[in-house]
Amino acid sequence: MLTIGTHAHPSPHKDALYILLHRNQVLVEKHQNFLIPFTHFQPNANMSAVYCGQWHNQDIFVCRFESIPKGFEEMGLRDLLFLQDNDHYLLLSRAHQLSTWDRDHQFCGRCGTSMDKKHPVEHTKICPKCNLRHYPRISPCVIISIRKENSILLARGHQAPKGKYSNIAGFVEAGETLEQAVSREISEEIGIKVNNIRYVDSQPWSFPHQLMVGFFADYKSGEITPAPGEIDEANWYDINDLPNIPNPTTISGQLILKHIEQMKQNTEGK
Ligand SMILES: [Zn+2]
Repeated sequence: MLTIGTHAHPSPHKDALYILLHRNQVLVEKHQNFLIPFTHFQPNANMSAVYCGQWHNQDIFVCRFESIPKGFEEMGLRDLLFLQDNDHYLLLSRAHQLSTWDRDHQFCGRCGTSMDKKHPVEHTKICPKCNLRHYPRISPCVIISIRKENSILLARGHQAPKGKYSNIAGFVEAGETLEQAVSREISEEIGIKVNNIRYVDSQPWSFPHQLMVGFFADYKSGEITPAPGEIDEANWYDINDLPNIPNPTTISGQLILKHIEQMKQNTEGK
C-alpha cells in the first residue's frame, strides 16, 4: 500500500524505486516489472523526478524520459494497468497523474511565469509572482450500471470497436452534484430516466486524470434513444445472456459484475 505522508519530499536517491515514463508509455524490464531500482538506469540531468510517496517503506519517484534508456521496453499504460492487482494499479495511476501534473504545469496559468519549483511537502506548485497554486488536476466522471427487471443496460460508444459494450459514463459539469451528473448523462446519451441512484465504488483512471465514480441506478421511464454521434447502440441485456463486457480490472467491468451478483442474490432471496 502506498503511504503519501506529510513529511518533506526527499530528492531522488539510490535506495528508491523509480517508475520511468517515455511520452505516455511506461518503461518496463523483464516480466513487465515497472518498479526500477536506481542501479538499473542512468539518470540524466534533464530528468524531472516527482516524489510519489512510500511503498513498503521505499521511496517511489516517477521520471519522464525524452528517449528510451538501454535495457527497457515500452508498454502502454492501459495494457500495463490491466495486468496489476489493486495496489499496483493505484501506485501506477498515481505516478502517471503526478508526472502529468509536473509536465503540464511548467508555467503559471494565470500570469505565465515559469514554475520550476515544487512545494517541499505537498504536491502543489506555487507561482513565484502571483502566488496561484497549481495542484494535480483530478476530473470527476460518473459511470453507471442501470437495471431494468432482470436486465442491465449496455451501450457502445461512437469510438468503441464493434462488439465492445460498456456502461454510460461522462464528466461531471462545473457546479453539478454527482447525482445530477448521473441523471443528465443518462438522459443525454440514451434518453431515459432513472431513480434509486446509489454510490458503489470509485477508481482513478489516468487517461489523463479522471476519477471514475461508480453508481447503480434503476430504470424509471422512457424509450432508449441513443444520442447521434455519441452512442451507436444501447440495449437491455438479460444478465444471463451478456455480450463482451469490459475488463474486470476496470471499474466499468467491476460495476457490471457486482450489479449482476446483487441482482442474482435479490432474485434468490424472493
Ligand atoms: Zn502566476
